[in-house]
Amino acid sequence: MGLVEIGTRRPARVRPSRHLADLEAADRRAAVADLGQPAYRADQLSRHYFGRLTESADDMTDLPVAVRDTLIEAMLPRLLTATRELTCDRGMTRKTLWRAADGSFVESVLMRYPGRVTMCVSSQAGCGMACPFCATGQAGLTRNLSTAEIVTQVFNGARGLARGEMAGGPGRISNVVFMGMGEPLANYANVLAAIRRLTDPVPDGLGISQRAITVSTVGLVPAIRKLAAEGLSVRLAVSLHAPDDKLRDELVPVNRRWKVAEVLDAAWGYAAATGRRISIEYAMIRDINDQGWRADALAGLLAGRLVHVNLIPLNPTPGSKWTASDPGVAAEFEARLADRGIPVTVRDTRGREIDGACGQLAAAGREDPPA
Ligand code: SAH
Repeated sequence: MGLVEIGTRRPARVRPSRHLADLEAADRRAAVADLGQPAYRADQLSRHYFGRLTESADDMTDLPVAVRDTLIEAMLPRLLTATRELTCDRGMTRKTLWRAADGSFVESVLMRYPGRVTMCVSSQAGCGMACPFCATGQAGLTRNLSTAEIVTQVFNGARGLARGEMAGGPGRISNVVFMGMGEPLANYANVLAAIRRLTDPVPDGLGISQRAITVSTVGLVPAIRKLAAEGLSVRLAVSLHAPDDKLRDELVPVNRRWKVAEVLDAAWGYAAATGRRISIEYAMIRDINDQGWRADALAGLLAGRLVHVNLIPLNPTPGSKWTASDPGVAAEFEARLADRGIPVTVRDTRGREIDGACGQLAAAGREDPPA
C-alpha cells in the first residue's frame, strides 16, 4: 500500500500533535497527570506559555530540570515552522508563511496601527468555498487547522511583539481577525476552542478581549445561528460582495445553498443575540459589483440595521480577469451608502507588496517550496 505514496508529493494526512493550547484547563491537568506528573505542572506550563509567552525549557526554572523536556515534548510540540517572514509598511506589517508538520502551508499577518495591533489568522489550510476572486479559494481545501495551530499563529505574533521585534517598540496584540486562509465556520469546533484560548484570561489563555475578535464568514447560515447561541461577544463579519443572488451565486458559490436574504437574516439574529454590529465585507471589483444600482440595492438591504460596511478594493490574484474598482467609482459607491445613513469605510489594505492579502504567499509557497 505504501507504493501508492512513492513519487507523490501529497502531504501525508497525519493529525497535528496534541498541544497544551488544544485543551481546557481541566484537560491540561489530566494530560499532565497521564505523564505521571503532578497536575499543578499543567498550570505552571500554562503560565509560561500563555502568560510569559515562552516555550523554552531554559525559562521554566520552577519546573525540575529532569521533567522540563518531557513536559515540553508532550505538551508543547512544534506544530508550525515559520518558513518565510516578510515585512513592509516600514516594519508595521509582518507576514509569516508557516509549514505544518504534514507539509501544509498557512499564513498569518500582523498589522500595527496607531493604538492597536491586529493579527490576521488562518483557520484552514486552503479553503473549500471556491470564491473565484480569492487566491486561497482556487486551490481547494487541504484540511482544518487544529485549535493549537490557530493559537500558535497568535502566540507567535504576541511573543514577537512583546520582544519588540515589530517597528514601534514592544506591544501587545489587541485584535484578532479570522480573515486569513480558510472558512472559520467550516472548522467550527476548533475555531470556537481557539477563541476560548485566545480570550480566556491569563494563565488559561492569552487574555485578548472577545469584543476584539472578528470571525469572517462566507455565510454558513446554520453555523452563524449556532455561534449566536454560544454567549460570546465576538464580532461577526459577513463576506457579502453582492446584494443580489444572481451575482453572489458566482462570487460566493455557497450562496447557491444559502441566499442573501437567509444569510442576512442569520446575521441580524447574531446582532440581536450579541448586541454586536455586523461587519459587511464587500470587495470592490471593477465593473462586476461596483455599479450605483448595486450600492442602492445594498443600502436597501442594510438600512436601519446594526451594521457597518467595509469596502475592500479587490486585491487581484495572479491570472485573474478581475481588478479593483476605479477609486472614483468606489467613492461614489461609498457615498451612496453613506447618504442612506449606513456606516461605511473603505478598508486600508495593508501588505500589498508582500501579497499580504488573501492567501497569495501560501499559494506562492506551494509553487516554490522553501528549502
Ligand atoms: N472565508 C472567510 C474568511 C477569509 S477571507 C470569508 O470569506 O469571510 C477574508 C476576507 O477577504 C473575505 O471578505 C474575502 O472575501 C476577502 N477576500 C478574499 N480574496 C480577496 C481579494 N482578492 N481581494 C479582496 N478581498 C478578498
